[in-house]
Amino acid sequence: MIRFGPAGNSESFYNEGYKNTHEAFKWLEAMGLDAYEYQCGRGVFLKQDTAEKIGDEAKAHGVALSLHAPYYINLAGTDNEKLEKSIGHIEKSIEAARWMGARRVVVHPGGIGGDSRHAAMKRAMRVFVDIMKNMPGSGLISPELMGKINQLGNLDEIIEFCSADDSIIPTLDFGHLNSRENGSLDSPEAYEKVILRLADGIGWDRTRRLHVHFSRIEYTARGGEKRHWTMADKQYGPEFDHLIPVLIKHRMEPVIISESSGTMAEDAALMKRRYFDAIDGN
Ligand SMILES: [Zn+2]
Repeated sequence: MIRFGPAGNSESFYNEGYKNTHEAFKWLEAMGLDAYEYQCGRGVFLKQDTAEKIGDEAKAHGVALSLHAPYYINLAGTDNEKLEKSIGHIEKSIEAARWMGARRVVVHPGGIGGDSRHAAMKRAMRVFVDIMKNMPGSGLISPELMGKINQLGNLDEIIEFCSADDSIIPTLDFGHLNSRENGSLDSPEAYEKVILRLADGIGWDRTRRLHVHFSRIEYTARGGEKRHWTMADKQYGPEFDHLIPVLIKHRMEPVIISESSGTMAEDAALMKRRYFDAIDGN
């Protein structure tokens, strides 16, 4: 089934006096939401009992969990010590995900640095294949399509990462794709082209179960992603409404996570409403 939810906690959640993430799931259920991405972008500091409490509450309220691994993972690095650290971050993320029963661990592949794109990708791929083979729980890893041009993780590179193992479901961030391709997602047809390209690369089974990040993102032509905005900031693309007919046409059942700035739960609920309005023919 298709699911919608926020990346982390909305400002309104804290403004209503809540302090702990395990309190978020009842709140999300009341908003009609059924997914949540736990944020470990700045590191995995979670204790086992906290993670288990989060997992229990999420389950009790019908919310499917994913976990975002630390941002500073770089699989293409040339410094062995840093590479070991990156691998350690992935290991810790998987451990925390298992404690809370999360189904996906979203991982940024890394940066190109001063190297050629091709050489960086080759290094990252070698490390990634090794992780997929040897790390327990690696089937949870979901490589993310990235928004900055000098980051690994354009659409073709994500498809290549997915070739490392048939179980890998990628995270397709449409705001990122639109940013790194200078506003390419300007119509339903443009979205469909992406979905068809992905299905061609990884098959329809995995494409239908995609993990999706969605937000309006400001970008520059030279660098790509600059800043995340909210669904109300309509001067920034891409449009979620253009994705809806593609989801329906291809019978897709993704988990859709809003990464809006501050209003992620509200914007996830808004996307869910727009989707089901379209299903109902409104
Ligand atoms: Zn991310």
